[in-house]
Amino acid sequence: TLDVAWALDWVRRSAATVTENRDELVELDRLIGDGDHGENLARGFRAVLGRLDALTEPPAQVGDVLRLVATTLMSTVGGAAGPLYGTAYLRASKATATDALDSGGVVAMLEAALDGVVTRGKAGPGEKTMVDAWTPAVAAAVEAADHGAPPSEVLAAAARAAHEGAEATVSLVATKGRASYLGERSVGHLDPGARSSELILVAAAQSAA
Ligand code: ADP
Ligand code: MG
Ligand code: MG
Repeated sequence: TLDVAWALDWVRRSAATVTENRDELVELDRLIGDGDHGENLARGFRAVLGRLDALTEPPAQVGDVLRLVATTLMSTVGGAAGPLYGTAYLRASKATATDALDSGGVVAMLEAALDGVVTRGKAGPGEKTMVDAWTPAVAAAVEAADHGAPPSEVLAAAARAAHEGAEATVSLVATKGRASYLGERSVGHLDPGARSSELILVAAAQSAA
């Protein structure tokens, strides 16, 4: 199972990978948006690390860790991604009010996160948003769990699918978010939110490996 230590490691790895890839995220967003996605997320996760370091006692449940991420991202990221990720982590936190996740728990967490993004942003698959990374990730997680895969393999399957989903946004026309202002001219570019979602899911899998 995946415990609170996994969740803390996931959050720290997420902060590290978002920071390492900040320039790529900025460039992707510069091509079809306003160029702030990398900066927004790096700032948000820096604030998350600050709050983690300030904790006086360790979180008891996985959901406590994810709620800290949710509230911090909501108050520090801004733009489209702040409320979207904030809602995703908040829903995920409610689905993980436990000290450890089995494979079913991992699936429930990922389903809740996707549900949060969709509730908040009203985008469906194929609109060239982070939904195009999360949707195949959830489907792959469900399939892996159905086949009896352990939590680490459920996350690995989700991360691979998120990568494929993010890459597939290149050929899509954006119909939601700032990139939709470009219409057909958004084709040929990878969606920055799909890439950051991939990075976060890859971090989750690495923490579990
Ligand atoms: P902003 O567009 O306000 O500058 P960011 O650059 O931080 O915000 O985030 C842009 C990302 O947000 C996009 O790449 C896309 O993945 C995601 N996004 C935007 N609108 C939506 C939406 N309605 N539903 C899901 N994701 C969205
Ligand atoms: Mg932007
Ligand atoms: Mg912006």
